[in-house]
Amino acid sequence: MIGCGCEVCSSSNKKDKRLRSSILVQSADTSIVVDTTPDFRYQMLRAGVKKLDAVVFTHPHKDHLAGLDDVRAFNFIQQKAMPLYANSLTEEAIKREFAYAFADKKYPGVPELQLNTISDGPFYIGDIPVQPVEVWHHKMPVLGFRFGKFMYITDANRIEDTEKEKIRGCDVIVLNALRKEKHISHYTLDEAIAEVRDLGIPRAYFTHISHQLGLHQTVDAGLPEGISLAYDGLEVLMN
Ligand SMILES: [Zn+2]
Ligand SMILES: [Zn+2]
Ligand SMILES: [Zn+2]
Repeated sequence: MIGCGCEVCSSSNKKDKRLRSSILVQSADTSIVVDTTPDFRYQMLRAGVKKLDAVVFTHPHKDHLAGLDDVRAFNFIQQKAMPLYANSLTEEAIKREFAYAFADKKYPGVPELQLNTISDGPFYIGDIPVQPVEVWHHKMPVLGFRFGKFMYITDANRIEDTEKEKIRGCDVIVLNALRKEKHISHYTLDEAIAEVRDLGIPRAYFTHISHQLGLHQTVDAGLPEGISLAYDGLEVLMN
């Protein structure tokens, strides 16, 4: 956090150094990013991503969208527009906040974006199956994404039972857990643990962590079996 001198912000443990929340989902021949955070450019450089087939979006908040302009690097390399998959709420925000990319007369070099509206139905990106799952972020609908037996949910604090049915049977879930104190639109640590248990998923990683949660090492050591804090650079291999 800018300007903060707390023990987490001044920690020398790499696992306490967090960029904004995003994941890269890869199969043998397809690469997808979930959300383009304000740190998207550095995240792509750090992970050495050479090819990106699509971006899927969870919701239109700035910390999940602001880095979109930098997909233009992939436009240059791949010589094609970047396919974006978003619900209509996020699509409106993309058109509004990146209006210059949709102008009739575009300045040379602006990002080339190809919008695909998604709702609740499953679809494929390359050989990766994608099942959207709608969750609640206070009063905003947010999309979680199921890729095979892997589930990614960020920025939620409630999941309806009908949507939970789409999540059950996963081997791994990444779920947001902001801090220990109650928050209006994010799961607390205890709420996230309870959701993982309710969903019956054996392996869970918590993401979208605030500095207010505490030191990675301390908090991680106190978590129940099968649950860990995620950290930047974490890789999860699925069968
Ligand atoms: Zn801090
Ligand atoms: Zn949000
Ligand atoms: Zn967020």
